[in-house]
Amino acid sequence: MQTPNILIVEDEVVTRTTLKSLFEAEGYNVFEAENGEEMHGFFENNAIDVVIMDINLPGKNGLILAREVRDRKNVGLIFLTGRDNDVDRILGLEIGADDYLTKPFNPRELTIRTRNLLSRTSNAAEDDDLPSKVKFNGWTLDGDSRSLISPKGNEFRLPRSEFRALHLFLSNPGKILTREQLIMEMTGRELRPNDRTVDVTIRRIRKHFESEPNDEELIVTIHGEGYRFCGEVD
Ligand code: CA
Repeated sequence: MQTPNILIVEDEVVTRTTLKSLFEAEGYNVFEAENGEEMHGFFENNAIDVVIMDINLPGKNGLILAREVRDRKNVGLIFLTGRDNDVDRILGLEIGADDYLTKPFNPRELTIRTRNLLSRTSNAAEDDDLPSKVKFNGWTLDGDSRSLISPKGNEFRLPRSEFRALHLFLSNPGKILTREQLIMEMTGRELRPNDRTVDVTIRRIRKHFESEPNDEELIVTIHGEGYRFCGEVD
């Protein structure tokens, strides 16, 4: 694997410098941006693999910038949020962040999460194994554009987490999938205590389905166990 490119988006110099040293010590190429404008500049000229982004930034904040990052197919996104800011964490995941850490974070934890995420994002071959189109109940999951297309033809671009979760469901119709299985597929990491990542992702996927009248619920909650895809794959 080529040396991964990490882009740190953080306005606080001390945190940014600390992060830079941390990732350089791990052997990554590190780019630093103070704000969204600088971030986009790096995207123009470099193949960025993972973005580590602070939520509180001057100008466009991290939540706004996340929308702009998530459409880039092979970029992973990890948010750094303030302590006890559950709202930011949930919002970040809803917008399509792959993972988050709360400040002050454990550096080792961050590098492990980043490595896990990279194993998901940089391995394009893994995604290429997926059939490019899977049809179910009038819907289409399109692996080339990583989008979900409704029976009426509306297209939803999916963040990687949603795409991978949905793909796992479609590969296992009728089977109960646990949160542990889903989080591993989505982010390559284990479930944490009070982890809302899976539930937020499922909620987002359901929202796409609910955008058009549906006879049945396609993803059903199995209480205490996980989720099950109840549709029919063509
Ligand atoms: Ca900040």
